[in-house]
Formats: sequence, C-alpha cells, structure tokens
Amino acid sequence: MTGPSTPHPATHIGCHVFTFGTDRWCVTLAQELIAADPTAAEPHPHVGIGDLGVFLGGLVRIDPDHAMTRDLSLPLLIAPLPIGQGSVHVLIDGWHRVYRALSEGLTDLPAYVLTAATEQAARYPLPHYPRGPR
Ligand SMILES: [Zn+2]
Repeated sequence: MTGPSTPHPATHIGCHVFTFGTDRWCVTLAQELIAADPTAAEPHPHVGIGDLGVFLGGLVRIDPDHAMTRDLSLPLLIAPLPIGQGSVHVLIDGWHRVYRALSEGLTDLPAYVLTAATEQAARYPLPHYPRGPR
C-alpha cells in the first residue's frame, strides 16, 4: 500500500477525522474536495447499511441522542481504502446517521463514494504508528 506523501496540514484545526486501524481520513477535507469538484466522489442514492449495525457501540462509538438529530438526507462518505489489488470500503462519515436510520427501520442511505484520488488526498498516516518508508 502506498500512503499519502503530505502530512495533515497544520492549518486544519478542529477538523473532523475518522480513524480505522492505522489509517486516518480528514472528513472535513474530503467534504471540501467534493464541494469544490463534484467529480471528486460518486453519488449513490441507495447504499445498504444493514450490515453496519454490528460496529455500532463497539468499534464505532456514537451518542444515541445526538444520532436522532442527524439529517438522513446528507450523504454518507465512503472511502475505498486500497488493500492489495482491490479495496475495502470504509464508512468515514455518517455513523450517527446509520444509527438513526437502523433504529427507524431503514435499510439504505444516500452516500458519496470517494474516488481513489480523493480518498488518497484525504488520508493521512497516523503519526504515532509509522508504517515504514513511503
Ligand atoms: Zn483536516
């Protein structure tokens, strides 16, 4: 796997990040890239969320009260993390929306799937867990 070459900009203060294993994405930057260029992500109106419930409360902590205030029309953000020859899709933004939707019996939500370039631009290595030369 090749990692991004630039560190998370020091000027990005208070941004929203999501960490998965040794990878971290700046959700704020991904949203900025999509706002500036709609081709930075592919919109999918109906993404199945039924198998995401197992992560809630364990791997992913959420605030149930906050979750119920979230706007379900706001697309989730999904990052295609390159693994070997393929990629694994990681939900990097929208876990509270998933909680609300599942609790209301919904089975899908709208989502943006980042392009490979956007995914890489928004991914930063975790400084405390270096993975060797890049
Ligand atoms: Zn940031």
